[in-house]
This record gives sequence, structure tokens and C-alpha cells, in this order.
Amino acid sequence: MGSLHGLLSFIPLWLSILLLSGALLSLGAAGASIRVWALAVFALFWLFGLPKTLTLTITAILVIMAIPPLRKVLFSSNVMRLLKAMKLLPKISETEKVALEAGSVWADGELFSGRPDLNHLMQEPYQKLKAEEQSFLDHQVETICQMTNDYQTYQDGDLAPEVWAYLKKEKFLGLIIPKKYGGLGFSNLGHSEVVSKLGTRSIPLAISAMVPNSLGPAELLIHYGTEKQKDYYLPRLASGEEIPCFGLTEPGAGSDAGAMTSTGVIFKDENGKLCVRLNWEKRYITLGAISTLIGLAVKLSDPEKLLGGSSEPGITCVLVPASTPGVTLGRRHDPLGVPFYNCPISGKDVVLSVDQIIGGAAGAGQGWKMLMECLAAGRSISLPAQSTGGAKRTARIIGAYAQVRKQFGISIGQFEGVGEALAKIGGMTYLLEACRIYTAGALDKGIKPAVVSAIAKFNSTEISRNLINHAMDISGGSGISLGPANMLAHSYIAAPIGVTVEGANILTRTMIIFGQGAIRCHPFAYQEMKALEAGDLTVFDKAFASHIGHIVRNGCRALILSLSRGHLAKVPSGPMRRYYQKLSWTSASFAFLADIAMGSMGSRLKFREKITGRFADILSWMYLITAVLRRFEAEGRQSEHRAFADYAIRYGFSEIQKAFDGLYENMELPFPGKQITALFALWSRFNTLAVPADDQTGTKIAQAMMTPGDVRDALTARGVYMPEDVKEPMGRLEHAFLLSVEADQIMRRVNRAVRKREIPKGRPEEILLSAREKGLITEEERKVVESATEACRKAVEVDSFALDEYKKGVVNAFTQGKDNRKGPLASVSGA
Ligand SMILES: Cc1cc2nc3c(=O)[nH]c(=O)nc-3n(C[C@H](O)[C@H](O)[C@H](O)COP(=O)(O)OP(=O)(O)OC[C@H]3O[C@@H](n4cnc5c(N)ncnc54)[C@H](O)[C@@H]3O)c2cc1C
Repeated sequence: MGSLHGLLSFIPLWLSILLLSGALLSLGAAGASIRVWALAVFALFWLFGLPKTLTLTITAILVIMAIPPLRKVLFSSNVMRLLKAMKLLPKISETEKVALEAGSVWADGELFSGRPDLNHLMQEPYQKLKAEEQSFLDHQVETICQMTNDYQTYQDGDLAPEVWAYLKKEKFLGLIIPKKYGGLGFSNLGHSEVVSKLGTRSIPLAISAMVPNSLGPAELLIHYGTEKQKDYYLPRLASGEEIPCFGLTEPGAGSDAGAMTSTGVIFKDENGKLCVRLNWEKRYITLGAISTLIGLAVKLSDPEKLLGGSSEPGITCVLVPASTPGVTLGRRHDPLGVPFYNCPISGKDVVLSVDQIIGGAAGAGQGWKMLMECLAAGRSISLPAQSTGGAKRTARIIGAYAQVRKQFGISIGQFEGVGEALAKIGGMTYLLEACRIYTAGALDKGIKPAVVSAIAKFNSTEISRNLINHAMDISGGSGISLGPANMLAHSYIAAPIGVTVEGANILTRTMIIFGQGAIRCHPFAYQEMKALEAGDLTVFDKAFASHIGHIVRNGCRALILSLSRGHLAKVPSGPMRRYYQKLSWTSASFAFLADIAMGSMGSRLKFREKITGRFADILSWMYLITAVLRRFEAEGRQSEHRAFADYAIRYGFSEIQKAFDGLYENMELPFPGKQITALFALWSRFNTLAVPADDQTGTKIAQAMMTPGDVRDALTARGVYMPEDVKEPMGRLEHAFLLSVEADQIMRRVNRAVRKREIPKGRPEEILLSAREKGLITEEERKVVESATEACRKAVEVDSFALDEYKKGVVNAFTQGKDNRKGPLASVSGA
């Protein structure tokens, strides 16, 4: 050893520093224990000839940290006191605690860890439908889509009576209800596929079927109902005998549902029976006006403690038959003209037996927990399904439209500007489907990933809103002109609905994804908070020591992976290896930075939503990229799909880069944190994670979307209702599209001949005749071109109305001939 010490003294200083830093970084990145650190620091410092006092001081600190009883007394107890005094860790209310503890941690935990096991994430299910679910899609779902006329639904303000009858008869309202209660007992993926396909025909159809299957009486009963409640209500809900709704939102309690003022009071009636008296005023309740069974959330009080618990049990869910005296239904809101029932509902002194509390007397006060747990999973099904179905349909329509619509003599999709928008629609549609299936797979495995659900809901609705905007741009005036021929406007108009419901998006991004993620997915933060609150030094000491190790490991990993641009990460092999490396690199940097932000801002971080929003973006895109990688692997690494995956992944990484840049720019850290982050910012811009996909990748996607065949179908046909009848706008467009592609091939030959002056220039029909006469094309081919021209003309036609006809439509839609509106403007004449 002595000789080695001597040898190292001959190494130049810069090399010594480099070697020492490398050794310490490797140790840190490997996640060495404190004991190993103590030994290694002592040995390395001695070997490199560092001053003895420094060596001994640092080694002594590490030894103290390595011996729990000493660490507890000398270190952790003081940290605990300091944290309490500085109020650095946020105080968590009871309702927040329930929300935080709802559901489970899954891929989000891996990505939050800084060292994700990507092999494991690539083994997670990416499943297929069961045979009976596929059959239901091919028959019942196909039939109801055929039965539904979306335009007429908007005109009538409701689905046709026969559509409602079929929905009930075929148990669309009982997709999630177990078979033993007469429901269809579908998997989460099956449920998602049905909602997704219904939405490709008509949004009101999808919403009407989706709401009874999402958070509401059925789901709450399945998980928390008493046997008696399940036996009575579930078969009635499955068969459509009962139409459910769920009332949570109130005029004063929207995002902050805990602020509700609806009440339930326990009392004994004159016969000594335990009852609950309910008073409520709810709004935005889907299916409210036509419901027969209301799942109602109220704040319950039990002043005489008749239920044997607290006098204020709190939020409770009650089943209210709509026919009970005191219940008022019968009005509806108008959600952007989308004709599904969305209603105010109220109740005055509605008296029911306590047996109507979901879960019976034991369910009193459990409402918040029930809602949070169900929302934790449910958020990832309905809205991602509807958004993804919509995106696939949009991609199919707009790819065809961009081929069929010709301007300046060529298909508009051939212009790079349009191709750019097409590429985004294609790439992001690939991503949405990946996210939908990957997330449903976790649910079917029994996981209830709360943070991932929020990620899926937020991003699906945001991305699909963005895609429909691009599609509207491409479709030009035909997207804007309303009427039966318009295929996109209803999706465009309805986009904000998905954004608002089940946790409005701004709040979901800035509060839930990172707020809940930082506490739930972080391996130690929540343990520390709970220990701090309980004053439990032993638990705090263990968690805090591990937390420090976690920060050191992630800091070292982040530095090594950043310097090596991810190349040193241990990741799965294969064509996507480079992306796995970047994902590992991102995860390490994210985890390290999240700890810095939490440590430096503490409880203030909760209110720095511009910061938490950016962290949420990084976590979201890491998850979405993981889902895309999983899809690519699960589908057999098909090279024809590579451009779609590349586009989505590179888009994701460039969004992550933006979020990191924003964090470095805006995180307020005490000295010298600000200066260090300024360096990080400089380095991050110089050493960017990725740039968006190149133009060539985008062109490949645009071409694939405008070319009939397997690639287009894999992206846009599965789970999309595709009417073939040319009387239907979508059938007409598809027919024109296929003809147009065939005609373009023929015309390529003809145009070549014109350029070579083999045939004279002229009007299109003259050129075609000359080509036919010259034997350049057959008569059959000439007819194909002719039919294609006619089909394309019809496919891009828009509706127009006689002046009177139009006025009548407006009167019908808005006033029904008589102004019976209620609300702020009702009294304003002509408003
Ligand atoms: C069509 C439709 C159907 C619905 N169906 C039902 C139903 O069946 N049952 C039911 O109970 N409810 C239903 N809702 C209610 C829905 O869940 C609420 O609209 C939603 O929770 C938001 O409440 P709010 O509209 O009052 O918005 P607000 O709470 O007023 O929020 C307004 C904006 O502020 C943002 N915001 C609020 N707080 C924060 C915060 N802390 N940080 C950052 N941003 C914040 C929100 O993200 C939102 O963008 C429905 C709503 C609609 C529009």
C-alpha cells in the first residue's frame, strides 16, 4: 500500500483529481452504503495524499452516519427539530392524506426512483382483448354504432329511443359489473375498447354509456357496497332498469370537492328507525335528469352519535332513488351543445334509511376514501379511451382527406406544411394508443396506479385536443362548416369537456401528478413526513439516512449519465437501446432535481405550481415514452412502425428538455444553489437530451397516413367504427381515398407523357383521352381516374342550408321557440 501511495504522488494534480472524482462518482452511482463510503473515503483520501485532518474529519462524519444509534442522537434528532422549526415539510390534512394514499405505485415509482428497471417495465402487460370482448365489439358495439346517427342526435338533443333501448338491453351500462350480478364483467381493457369505439361514432353515445361504468353507484357498490346493496342494485344497474348518476360537484365545490355544503343528518324517525335527512344542490351531473338512482356525496353529521362513531363522520356516499320525495330533477345544462344529459340536481329534506349509505353504517364518513380510491384507477380508462378513439378516427379521416383534397394540382398532404401537421397527428396517435393499452394492462393486473391514472387522463385529453386542432387546420373550410357531412367539428367542440371532467387539467398537472407523485412515488418522502408528524425518531432516522443515500446516488448517476449522454446506463438491448439510455438519464436527473426542489422549497413547493407543473411534464413524458417503447416491443419491433415510435419518443424527450430548461431557469434556490443551477442550465442547453424528430421521419408518417394498407390500418382502423356505405361521410371519404390513390398512380404515367410531350397539354379529360388513344392507359384506367375525380369532389363537399331552414335550426337548437332558461342571463331579454 505504501508503494501505491508513493506512486500516486507522482501523478499530475489534474489526473489525481480526475481519478479521485471518478472513483467517488462510481461509488455514489452504485449506491454504496455509508459503511462502504467511510472505508472508501478513508482509503482513497489517504492514497491520493489528501490532508490528514480532512481525511479524518470526513471519515469520522461518515462513521457516525453509519452507526444508527449515534446518527439518531447526533444527527437525525437535530434535523427533525430543524425541519419542524422551519416548517419545511408540508402538513398534510386528513383529506389530503386519503387522496395521497389512494391507489398504488407502479411504473411511476420506477421512473421516480432515478434508477428505473426498464427490463421490468418492458415485461409489464401489453395485453389483447378476451374473445368475448372482441365478439361484443364486433357485434353489439358495431350494431349500436350503425344505429346511431350522430348528426340527428345533435338535432334531437338526445340519442334515439331505440339506441337507448339497445344500450340497456345489451348491458352497455353494466360493462364493469361482475357476471354474477348480471353484468358483462369486462376487463379494464375491454371496457376501454368499448368506450373508445363508441366515441368514434358519436361522443354523446360514448358519454352516455361511459358514465354508468366510471366513478358512480356501480363501481362504488362493487367495491364498498354491503351484500344486500349489491344483490339488489347491481343486477338492476346491469340491465339498465336503473339509470345511475353520481353527484359530487356543487356550485361552490368544483375542483375542491371537499368544500361541499350538501348535508346528511342522522336521526331516528317516529318508529325508532335510523334515517338520514339529505339536503343538496349539485351541478354538472351527467345523466342527472334521467337518472333513477343517484349516488350522492354529502357531508354527514350524526349529532346524537346514533351510528356509534363520531358526531361528524364527514363525506359519505348515499344511494338515493330519484323517486324519493324531495328530489328535484328535470333540468339540464348545455355542455357546448354536445347533447348528453348534464344537469343540476337538488334535494330538500330527502329522508332515507341509513341502509342507503354505501357500505351501510360502516360506510359513514368513508366517502372521500371511496371516491379517491375509485378515481385513482378510473381516471385512466374512460377519458383516455375516448381521446384515443377520437385521435385514431381523426388520423384516419385526415390522412384520407389530405390525399383526396387537391390544391395547386396536388394532394394537400404532399405540401410540407400540411405534412408536418399530419406527422404530429400520426405520431401522437401512436403514443395515445400505447398509453391507453399499457395503463389498462396495469389495472387488469390489479394495480391502481393513482399518479399514472392522472398522467393518462391529463395527457390523453390534452394531446387529443391538440390533434383535433391540427386536423381542423388541415380540413380548412370543410372542418368549419357544420352539417351532416362534417366529420371533425363535433370532436373539436367537445374537446374541452374531457379536459374539465374527472379532475380539471390545470389542477391535474400542477397539483396531482407531481404533488401526489413526489409523495407517493418517492421512496422516502412520505415516510419522513409521517414520522415527523408522529415524532417518531427511529422511523425518521432510517428514512432520512436512506433518503440521503438516494440523493447521493441519483446525483452521481445524473452526473455520470449526463457526461456520457446516457451511454453508461445499463438498459435493455435492441433497436431502441438509445432511447432506454436517455430514459435512464432523464430519470436520474429528474429524481435528483426533485429532491433538490423538495429539500430547498419544502412546503412552499406545493404552491409553486409553475415548478410542479414542469416536474409533472417530465414525469408524464417519461411514462408516455415508456408506454411507446412497450408498444413497439410488444408489437414485434415492426420496422414500418418505427417512424411513429421515433416521432413520439423524440417529441417526448424534447418536451422533457423544455421542462428541465424551465426548471433550471426558475427554481429559486438559496446561495449557491442559484449559481449552480445556472451552470446546470448552461450545460443542459449545450448537452440537450434530444431534439424533435427530423423532417424525414415526419414525411414518412405523413405518407403512411395517406397510403392505404397495413401501416395506416394498424394506426387507425383497430377499434374505430368505419362505415363503408358511401352515403355516410366517412364511407364516402374512404371510397374516394382508395380511388384517388389508384388514380394518382395512373396519372403519374400520364403526366410523365405530357412532360415528354408525347401527348399535348389540355384540360384533364382531354389529356386522359389522348393518353387512352396513345395506348398509355387502358379504358378501365381512364374510368378509374374519372370516377376518382368525381368521388373526390363529393368527398370534400360541405353542407349548405336554405336561409329559412338554417334559421329554423338555430331556433330549435337554442330556444325551442320559448325561452325557458334559468341562470344569470335568463332575465335579460333576448340574451
Ligand atoms: C360536462 C361535464 C360533466 C360532468 N359530470 C359530472 C358528474 O357526473 N358528477 C359530478 O359530480 N361532477 C361532474 N362534473 C364536474 C367536474 O368534475 C368539475 O367541472 C370539475 O371538477 C371542475 O370543477 P369546476 O368546473 O367547478 O372548476 P373550478 O374548480 O372552478 O376550476 C376552474 C379552473 O381552475 C383550476 N384549478 C382549481 N383549483 C386549482 C388548483 N389548486 N391548482 C391549479 N388549478 C386549479 C382548474 O383546473 C380549472 O382549470 C362534470 C363537469 C362537466 C363540465
